[in-house]
Amino acid sequence: MKSRLLSPIRRGAKRTRLWQGNALILREFKYFPRIVLLALLFTLLAAAFEGLGIGTILTFLQGLTDTSTPPLETGIDWIDVWVLGNQAPANERLYRLSGLLILVTLCRSTFTYFALKYAGIGKFRLGYQLRMRIFEQLQSLPLGYFAKTRSGELINCMTNEVQQIMQAFDLFNKMVIQGTVLLVYLSSMFLISWQLSFIAVILFSMLSSGVTFLLKRVRRASVERSKASSAYVSVSLEFINGIRTVQAFAAHAFERRRFDKKNQEFLQTSAKTISIMAMVAPLIEGLATTIIICMVVFAITALIPQGTLQLASLLTFLFILFRMLPLVKTLNATGARIMNFHGSFEKISEILNRKDKVYLTNGYREFSTLRQAITFEAVDFGYDSSKLVLRDINLMIERGKTTALVGASGAGKSTLVDLIARFYDPNRGKILIDGIDLREFKINAFRRHLAIVSQDTFIFNDTIRNNIAYAMESAADEDIYRAAQLANAIEFIRELPEGVNTVLGDRGVRLSGGQRQRIAIARALLRDPDILILDEATSALDSVSEQLIQKSIEKLSKGRTVIAIAHRLSTITRADKVVVLGNGQMLEQGTYEELLSQRGQLWEYHNMQYRAENIVYR
Ligand code: ADP
Repeated sequence: MKSRLLSPIRRGAKRTRLWQGNALILREFKYFPRIVLLALLFTLLAAAFEGLGIGTILTFLQGLTDTSTPPLETGIDWIDVWVLGNQAPANERLYRLSGLLILVTLCRSTFTYFALKYAGIGKFRLGYQLRMRIFEQLQSLPLGYFAKTRSGELINCMTNEVQQIMQAFDLFNKMVIQGTVLLVYLSSMFLISWQLSFIAVILFSMLSSGVTFLLKRVRRASVERSKASSAYVSVSLEFINGIRTVQAFAAHAFERRRFDKKNQEFLQTSAKTISIMAMVAPLIEGLATTIIICMVVFAITALIPQGTLQLASLLTFLFILFRMLPLVKTLNATGARIMNFHGSFEKISEILNRKDKVYLTNGYREFSTLRQAITFEAVDFGYDSSKLVLRDINLMIERGKTTALVGASGAGKSTLVDLIARFYDPNRGKILIDGIDLREFKINAFRRHLAIVSQDTFIFNDTIRNNIAYAMESAADEDIYRAAQLANAIEFIRELPEGVNTVLGDRGVRLSGGQRQRIAIARALLRDPDILILDEATSALDSVSEQLIQKSIEKLSKGRTVIAIAHRLSTITRADKVVVLGNGQMLEQGTYEELLSQRGQLWEYHNMQYRAENIVYR
C-alpha cells in the first residue's frame, strides 16, 4: 500500500538504493568465485541430465508401447551401435535403454548432490564474508556511531539478519535450479509437440493469472482480518487491564457490546478470508484437470491421426507436464519468499554502506613520542552539532606533568579526554601535539603511546595473563608479572586457582571493582605509554583497595604525561595543574594551592568534600 503512495521519482530512488544495497552484499561473491562457478556448473549439468533423462524415457516408453517403432538414433555411430544397440533385437534394446535410464538418473543425482553441496558451501561462505565485512565496518567506525546505534540492533544484524540473507541465498539457488529445470522441461515439451506446448502455456498462464488474482483478494482479506484481530486483542486487553474501572462503573453490558462487536468483526473477516481461500485449491485442481483432458482429447483426435504425434510422445508430454506444474508453483512461492527478505537486505546494507557515515580521517604522520605538550586551541565539541558539550577550551597539558580535571558530573571531563584519545574530533579549534594537529598523525600510531585506566575498563573473557597483555601477543612472562606486581595485583592473582592462567569469565564477573582496576593498571603499565589518562573512579572501592590502587597509580604515573579525572580531591593535591570545568567551559586553572587561595570553584568543591572531615580551607 505504502509503495503505491510514493511518487515515481521517489520509488525510482528507492529502487536504486535497494539495488545499491544488494550490490553491497552481492559483491562478496567475488571472494569465492571457484565455489560459485562450481555451484553454477553442477546446477546446469543436473538440469541437462534431467532433460536427457526425459529423452531416454520417451524412447523407453516408445519401446514399451510400440515394439515396431524404429530404434532411436543419435547419428553418432558408436553410440547408436554400442550403447543403444540399434542392430540388436527389440528386447535387448529395451534392456540397454533401461540401463541408460538408470545411468542418466545416477548422473543427475550425482550432479544434484554437487550442485547442492557447492551452493550450500557458497551460502556459508557468504555468511562468513558478511560477518567479517560487518565486523571490519564496525571496527572502522568512530565511537559516535556506537553511541547512536543500539548494540542489540548491531548484534541482531551480525547474527539473525546475516542468517536471513543466507536463507535468501539458499532460496535464490533453489530458484536457479528450479528455473533451469523448468527451461529444460519447456524445451523438451516444445520438442515433443509445439502445438500442445503452445496450448498448455496459454491455458496454464491464464489459470495462473486467475489464481494470482484470487490470492491478491485473499491477501487483502487477510489484512482486514489482521486488523480485526489486533482490534480484538486491544479491546480484550483494555477490558482485563481496566477491570477495576469496568466493575466500578457497572459497565458490564457496555463492555460486552464493545467486546462482541470486535469479536464479530474478527469472525466475519475470518469467514471472508476462508471463503476465498477455500476456492483456490479446488479451482486449480478442477481447471487444471479440464485443461489436461482437453489437451489429451485434442491430441488424440487431431494430432495422433495426422501422425504429428505418437502415443508415447503424448505420455511423455503428460509426464513432463505433471512434473512441471508443481515446479511452477514452488518457483512462484520461492520468488514470493525471497521478497520477504527485503528487510534483512536493507538492514545489512545500511550497516555496510560507507557513504552515509562519518569516519575519522586517518593522518599520515608517524608518532614517536610526546616532546613538549598537548595543546587545546579554542576547541568546541558537541555530540550533536546543535548542542555543544565543550566550549572554547584553551589548555596546555605539559609533557611529564600531571594535569587534573575537576568538575561536576556532566561538566565535560570525560569528553575532553576522549578528544585527546581521538575518539572524536573537535567541531571547531584544534588539538596540537607538539604544535602539530592531532588529525595529522596516524590514529593508531598515536593511540599506541596512550593508555586509559578507568574503573569500567573492559575485561575480556580470557585468562588474566591475556587480559594484562591485551593485544600484545609477544609480551614476555616476566614483563607481565612485573606489571602485575607494580599494579599491586600479584597477591590476589596468586590466590586464584590457576594464577595468571585463570579465565576471568564474561566481563570479569569473577573480579571485584578494585581488582578489575588493578588489572587495568597492569595493562597500562605493560604498554608503557607516554600519555596516561586516568579516570580514577575510586568511590566504589573499600579503603584498602583504594590505598593499593593509589600506590600503584603513583608508580604508573612516574615520568609520564598524566591527565587525571579527579573524583576525590585528595588524589590531586600534588598535581602540577588543576583545571576546573563547569558546563563545558574552563572555569579556572592553576596549582591546587593557587586555586584554593583564589576562593573560586575549586575552593567550593574542596570545602564541600572536606566539610564532613572538618578540614575546611578558610
Ligand atoms: P563528565 O565526565 O564531566 O561527567 P561527560 O563528558 O561525560 O561529563 O558529559 C558531558 C555532557 O555530554 C553531558 O551532558 C552528557 O550527557 C553528554 N554526553 C556524554 N556522552 C555522550 C554521548 N555519547 N552522546 C551524547 N551526549 C553525551
